[in-house]
Amino acid sequence: MGLKEKTTINLALSPTAEPINKLIQELNRLPGIGPKSAQRLAYYLLRAPEEHARLLADAILSVKQQITLCSACFNVTDSNPCRICRSAERDRSKVCIVEQPQDILALEHTRVYKGLYHVLHGAISPTEGVGANDIRIKELLERLKDSQVDEVILATNTNLEGEHTALYLNHLISPLGIKITRLARGLPFGTELEYADDVTLTRAIEGRQEF
Ligand SMILES: [Zn+2]
Repeated sequence: MGLKEKTTINLALSPTAEPINKLIQELNRLPGIGPKSAQRLAYYLLRAPEEHARLLADAILSVKQQITLCSACFNVTDSNPCRICRSAERDRSKVCIVEQPQDILALEHTRVYKGLYHVLHGAISPTEGVGANDIRIKELLERLKDSQVDEVILATNTNLEGEHTALYLNHLISPLGIKITRLARGLPFGTELEYADDVTLTRAIEGRQEF
């Protein structure tokens, strides 16, 4: 979803040994890794000490086996509830709604926001067939109904899908009598939160406006 079509390798034409081909093919499936980079990484791993390769393989498997979603905020976590939801330092009256777990990383990096989060795991996108029921909106509403939350910050991306999702959430949350804010427009239209710089993000949080 949202990934650009990428060039893939035609294995039938490759003169390389099968295990190397397999590795190149798997690396090539990663976002942002084209055939050339996949080849470079594969040959790097081939030359690397076995220990190094094992650590990488273990790290990948650990992520798949040990990481689950926080049952409160749906952030990725190795303990449930996640560290943020568990922390006594966090302001429980605010919930910041983001599209992806990596958006939390970006916002936490600014050190400005001290509230809680809710990860939607996507945005509503009619063109890609993603509806309101495909992301964690139902869970958000359940969570807001009986909570001490008095402000919801809509921090979805500033592209079409993000704006659409923010509008939809505003429509659903307004009747609950909770204040709704949206990140300030310091973020250029089309920005994905995880790529925004700290200064812009800090301004966006501090200058958030009533939605
Ligand atoms: Zn959590």
